[in-house]
Amino acid sequence: MTVGYPIDLHTHSLRSDGALEPAALIERAARRGVTIQALADHDTLAGAAEAMAAGERLGVRVIPSTELNTESEWGDVHILGYFLDPADAALEDRLRWLREHRGRRIELMVEKLNALGYPIALARVMEIAQGGSLGRPHLAQALFEAGHVPTYDSAFDTLIAKDAPAYVSRVGLSPLEAVQLVVAHGGVPSLAHPFTVIGLDELMPLIVAAGLAGIEAYYGSHPPAMTAACLSLARRYGLVPTGGSDFHGRGDHGAPLGGVFVPPETIAAIEARRGGQAAATMTTAVGGD
Ligand code: AMP
Ligand code: ZN
Ligand code: FE
Ligand code: FE
Repeated sequence: MTVGYPIDLHTHSLRSDGALEPAALIERAARRGVTIQALADHDTLAGAAEAMAAGERLGVRVIPSTELNTESEWGDVHILGYFLDPADAALEDRLRWLREHRGRRIELMVEKLNALGYPIALARVMEIAQGGSLGRPHLAQALFEAGHVPTYDSAFDTLIAKDAPAYVSRVGLSPLEAVQLVVAHGGVPSLAHPFTVIGLDELMPLIVAAGLAGIEAYYGSHPPAMTAACLSLARRYGLVPTGGSDFHGRGDHGAPLGGVFVPPETIAAIEARRGGQAAATMTTAVGGD
């Protein structure tokens, strides 16, 4: 069954807030015709090895990746980091620290929900997460199961979206630090779903200077004007336009696997940015001698 496009550079598994085991996610993508896929679980590379093994079996090239969510005066700035090394111990230290922050934030949100009269048990939320990076989708699932909300998605609107009563802000990295972390570990950072950024035009030169290499121009819920604006920013700042489904397998969030067209030249373009812009420029300069 080939119903999707072959490239999907933004997907999530049970190692964070997706619903499928990494291998099952790759199997489902392969059935839909995906041949190159980034597994970009939030603050973890824990699913990379399993996904890559499944990909080898099924003819899917899996790019080990992560998505770093930051929250600041710039709104939600999510940085995708491509081509990271799951065996990089120093990177894992930083990711573990981010996951600990996630855990504390979810604990605080559970306390708030309980105080607001929507009792859920932290233990049940952890069971739903099955050891993956904790996030609001696990809370939404627990709220739905407990009958506090009529659907999974409505848990966000009424209780846990930003500006909803049980929301707790994230602490962790700034957008610049997220970009720098990816670059420092040899990865390729791309700005995810730029429509969630407040003050995009002001932020762009700052994160480009920090080493941003891509911008997610192709995204399911982007209207054509947003894609065009991202492509224009990509030209202005020399960024690779990237794209993906943001598939989680939970609720209505994201597109189906392979559900967003990403041009084939994207892969070579992001690979050329591995090791940072400076290294790429040096190679060009040496090659030109
Ligand atoms: P967290 O990392 O805990 O802040 O949760 C962010 C995740 O929650 C995103 O990756 C989405 O999967 C999901 N999410 C955020 N807002 C919504 C929403 N309004 N409706 C459904 N899912 C959402
Ligand atoms: Zn997510
Ligand atoms: Fe995101
Ligand atoms: Fe995502």
